[in-house]
Amino acid sequence: MTVRVRFAPSPTGYLHIGGARTAMYNQLFAKAMGGKYILRIEDTDTERSERKYEESQIEDLKWLGITHDEGPDVGGEYGPYRQSERLHIYKTWAEKLIDKGHAYHCFCSEEELTAKKELAEKEKRAPHYDGKCRNLTVEEVTSKLASGEEAVVRFHAQRKAYVFNDYVRGRVVFPEGMVGDFVIMRANGIPVYNYAVVVDDASMKITHVIRAEEHLPNTLRQLMLYEAFSETPPEFAHVSLLIGEDRQKLSKRHGATSVTLYKEMNYLPNALLNYLCLLGWSHPNELDVFNPLELGTLFNLDRFTKAAAIYDVKKLDFINGQHIKALPIETILTEVEKTIPSTHQFHKMDHEWKIACVTIFKDQINFFQDFASHLDVLFTTEVSTSADYLEAKSWETTPKIREYLEGEINIAIVAGKKFVTVEDYNIWSEHVKGELKIKGKQLFMGMRSVLTHQAHGPELKFIIPLTPIEILEKRIHL
Ligand code: GLU
Repeated sequence: MTVRVRFAPSPTGYLHIGGARTAMYNQLFAKAMGGKYILRIEDTDTERSERKYEESQIEDLKWLGITHDEGPDVGGEYGPYRQSERLHIYKTWAEKLIDKGHAYHCFCSEEELTAKKELAEKEKRAPHYDGKCRNLTVEEVTSKLASGEEAVVRFHAQRKAYVFNDYVRGRVVFPEGMVGDFVIMRANGIPVYNYAVVVDDASMKITHVIRAEEHLPNTLRQLMLYEAFSETPPEFAHVSLLIGEDRQKLSKRHGATSVTLYKEMNYLPNALLNYLCLLGWSHPNELDVFNPLELGTLFNLDRFTKAAAIYDVKKLDFINGQHIKALPIETILTEVEKTIPSTHQFHKMDHEWKIACVTIFKDQINFFQDFASHLDVLFTTEVSTSADYLEAKSWETTPKIREYLEGEINIAIVAGKKFVTVEDYNIWSEHVKGELKIKGKQLFMGMRSVLTHQAHGPELKFIIPLTPIEILEKRIHL
């Protein structure tokens, strides 16, 4: 059996991060099993569906690196891949159901149905369709249709329990009588969601349906339809809900929910995928940072977690930082350069200096655009007003360090140096320790306060050799 899976978004908005997660799981599973991953556009909600959303969703999926084997833009043997182009298929399949006695034309008006529903609710009965049109004769139906009466197609639901095994939720039982006869085709020829999904999944030979937990209740109607078509249902995996920290369903209230926004905020696609992958699934080697697209056969359907996954932007940001760190240094440089203001001195420095600078600060950023703020420690002549700095400045040892370093910096300037070296810095600190007999906190914070005008910051031996000598000179005289 060739595994065939699908992602079936409705083009009614931008790609949601939950949708991206579903698409990724499907693609990873297809890859792991040597199968095919299909993109199907579920655009039967004609009022809300728009082509621009389909296009932007496909673009965002591509940005993430999720590419489909079959779909509306690339074709395939089982097309068309847009539901709006499959109306003839839904009609033919509905006729099959009618012929087999599993569905029938229903001529009841909306008003009649609403009145019956209200009555049922009042009498505390399940508001199921009462079956009025179920037993119309072929002649009655033909003559009503011929006289132009509008009809929906309604499915004749069996009164029995339905059971299936879900990869995530285990054994799921739908007790008898949960649904009555339901509509599968509207009078205007547009199929109802549960019906279209079954026709599509069956005719596209889908073997596994991996989708969000909110679709679990739909599985009942879908199982009924598979049975009526004498088709084997696919295997199901209903992946856990995404929720905010307040345990409510993830929505715009919790922050950005569309992939487009993450792209604009400069997240790395692999980092976003990595984070989404961990929301409801765990790596077999317990890894937190990895590229999902390289999981290969490590991805399987047995490692999903049932519990709802809490969306935590801080963790996502951390993972983004981890992915930045792992990039080649030249790539990080190219990316951070784009985010540093064009007038910044950084751009005037030579390549070697820039690489050294990126090497030091790359571990401290979660985003490329965070980089510029770390450069202050190399270029600013501002003086900290923090209590720790003022304390370090007030020690009686600190002016001695300042006096010594002033002499050293002047020697370096006279020698024509643009920067001091790590060796110079080591000699300075040895001198302060050995000759001036200043040790511990007084040594390290004292040197830092004199050389940077700050009380805390990255290791001096890394930043002092990158600080232009004229900046060190200015600081020492302030
Ligand atoms: N079109 C549905 C949605 O956007 C997906 C249906 C399914 O995966 O079965 O939620």
